[in-house]
Amino acid sequence: MNSKIYLSSPHMGGRERDFVQQAFDTNWIAPLGPNVTGFESDLEQYLNSERHVAALSSGTAALHLALIMLGVKAGDEVICQSMTFSASANPIVYQGATPVFVDSEPETWNICPNHLERAIRDRIEKSKKPKAIIAVHLYGMPYKVDEIRAVADQYEIPIIEDSAEALGSKYKGMNCGTFGDLSILSFNGNKIITTSGGGALVTKTLAEKNKAVFLATQARDDAPHYQHSEIGYNYRLSNICAGIGRGQMQVLDAHIELRRQMNQFYTDLFAEVDGIEVFSEPGSDYRSNHWLTCITVNSSKTGYSAEEIRLSLEKYNIESRPLWKPMHLQPVFKNSPYYGEKIAEELFLHGLCLPSGSNLKDVDKQRIVSVLSQFL
Ligand SMILES: *Cc1c(COP(=O)(O)O)cnc(C)c1O
Repeated sequence: MNSKIYLSSPHMGGRERDFVQQAFDTNWIAPLGPNVTGFESDLEQYLNSERHVAALSSGTAALHLALIMLGVKAGDEVICQSMTFSASANPIVYQGATPVFVDSEPETWNICPNHLERAIRDRIEKSKKPKAIIAVHLYGMPYKVDEIRAVADQYEIPIIEDSAEALGSKYKGMNCGTFGDLSILSFNGNKIITTSGGGALVTKTLAEKNKAVFLATQARDDAPHYQHSEIGYNYRLSNICAGIGRGQMQVLDAHIELRRQMNQFYTDLFAEVDGIEVFSEPGSDYRSNHWLTCITVNSSKTGYSAEEIRLSLEKYNIESRPLWKPMHLQPVFKNSPYYGEKIAEELFLHGLCLPSGSNLKDVDKQRIVSVLSQFL
């Protein structure tokens, strides 16, 4: 059997071990230290805005802290893009609040500004004003930043920007991760860069960053003994993991280029196929890191389905996966309100994510082509 080709696997740049070695040499084996500080400032420089970064143990932890910092409590409602990974929505429930799911629009596959506004108006009328909006840049594709911001500002609701999949993506030349009132990043094993596990909260002010670090380190008040006036969490990033992150930052742009080349590879491959569309930017305002390349299959034109492609790839030990199943269709969220039509649902039914890693070799691409060519 050929070795497995993954959707997206870790791709080390080379210097990661040096930073980890340094952590050992200096005995900084802790959830703080020079790599944590260094990784934060690398990210701040990369994002190239006035934003501040708090390195955390995961993107999920960052979302949880964002909700806490926006004062989300039991009984509140929070709007969340329905088509996303469950980690976008779960922290709403950790706070005892209710997620209100909103459909996608077909251009970026992200939260639809029209349904968003409809949801806000209806919640205000029927229940209460939502406390926050969680908008996601799926697969690295920026959501409609200006349109979503306009709606959020009109109703004075803060945006939590879930940029877990979109480090290095840009909208109108500005970096994803800098559009939220609070924003989050993820460095899980399958993301565009990895610290093996990790995440970050991006804030507008230093005071907000300090608050996030305070909450992430058990909310210890300033006292010689352990003194607490708030509930804290153990959410800080380890200095070992941050060392991997520092090495990864050195190759981030090069790896994005390789992911974009994978997108081009599939665009060329499917160029002549009537009924298969490769997900790509809807206009020049958008620049995706193409974390994952996705296709949609119109089986009435092709004569075969996305699922048939997936099964064929699987037979040859090549991983592919349906698109994110919308949260409003998940059993665990079946009682949550939903606003929208069937855009996300249709994408889920007809879409497929293809192997997109920056570390795929020519032989891997040849194996992918040989399986896919039976469909071309
Ligand atoms: C990966 C991911 C997260 C969660 O990040 P973790 O670091 O795995 O906790 C949140 N939202 C989206 C859209 C993701 O893809």
